[in-house]
Amino acid sequence: MLIHDLTPDECTEVLRRNDLGRLGCARYDQPYIVPILFSFDAERNCLYAFSTIGQKIGWMRENPKVCLEVEEIGDKNHWTTVLAIGRYEEIQQDPNEREARSRAEQFFKARREWWLPGAAKLQPGEHPEVVVYRIQIDRLTGRRAARNRD
Ligand SMILES: Cc1cc2nc3c(=O)[nH]c(=O)nc-3n(C[C@H](O)[C@H](O)[C@H](O)COP(=O)(O)OP(=O)(O)OC[C@H]3O[C@@H](n4cnc5c(N)ncnc54)[C@H](O)[C@@H]3O)c2cc1C
Repeated sequence: MLIHDLTPDECTEVLRRNDLGRLGCARYDQPYIVPILFSFDAERNCLYAFSTIGQKIGWMRENPKVCLEVEEIGDKNHWTTVLAIGRYEEIQQDPNEREARSRAEQFFKARREWWLPGAAKLQPGEHPEVVVYRIQIDRLTGRRAARNRD
């Protein structure tokens, strides 16, 4: 099997064609990983996602250093994985952030039933706080594996 590093362009292509990743955050030396849906904004080099308030939001507010793993796994011999390492930044509701929030929402709306499952905990008619955030990417790495004969 050959494993090689992806170029930056190959990494961004993987982020473009996927919307499911594993978000890793940490607090007091304890890691925490959950699957989330994301949207990649290549122009601004960031990922958008949203959530209701819970453990990961609490932890990322305390420690904004996060990473997101995205994978395309055929089998153990054929796979591509990309790691985006970056910083959690909340996109607030205030007027200064109106453009950023509307841009993130445009990305979300490109997905069918875009509010699921991030806002699935909400009951009909309930309007609790939904946090929209970006992960500003500082470092992107990727690897791909294939059998020698492929
Ligand atoms: C395909 C898919 C897409 C998803 N997309 C999103 C998304 O876009 N946005 C989003 O916010 N959430 C998404 N989720 C749900 C997400 O994985 C979390 O379950 C959810 O966000 C709650 O996380 P929390 O930190 O707020 O946990 P809390 O609700 O605060 O839960 C507390 C505890 O529950 C446990 N827990 C939480 N989530 C999980 C889990 N998934 N598996 C096992 N144990 C868990 C943990 O031990 C944690 O300590 C998605 C899940 C899947 C499978």
